[in-house]
Amino acid sequence: MKDSLCYQCKKNKAGKPSHTVTLSYQMMEVNVFNIGGLCYTCLETDWIEEFKQNAEEFITAVGGKVKVDWQGYNKHFAMGRFHDQKERFHSILTDLGILSPEAQGNWEIVADGPIGINPRASLSYLYFVRKEDAVEFARLEKARTLYHWEIHHIDEVISKQEVIETNNKVVE
Ligand SMILES: [Zn+2]
Repeated sequence: MKDSLCYQCKKNKAGKPSHTVTLSYQMMEVNVFNIGGLCYTCLETDWIEEFKQNAEEFITAVGGKVKVDWQGYNKHFAMGRFHDQKERFHSILTDLGILSPEAQGNWEIVADGPIGINPRASLSYLYFVRKEDAVEFARLEKARTLYHWEIHHIDEVISKQEVIETNNKVVE
């Protein structure tokens, strides 16, 4: 089968579909999911454009370490404004390894219920990868809530399937 061309530039070979591509931008490591059809140059150009439009004002990278301006985030997105940009920003934070759809090893703000009150993406619930972000986010976004909450570190996650299939072997 002939290699297909990028649908955007129609010049370069399209990247492997359903694959995560690692890019570097301002010394930050970026992991972008390529659904398919785009070459790496277009994928990178598009990501940088997305970053500039939706995230640049809230992120500084010092020597490759990402610093998130949660205070700016809090002010800018107050009262459900700019919902679409917020979604895009969460997705960029996921690409940068600041937020993650994976629970294990990550942090969660948990309110009475218990109910998780971390940021959400359109299709998933997100966890904080770094403790500093969870603490800062909670302080700024949740300090005035009337309900009680606390921050949890999730040490281990066992899936339903694992529990059922292994007949207690996961419990030591
Ligand atoms: Zn291209």
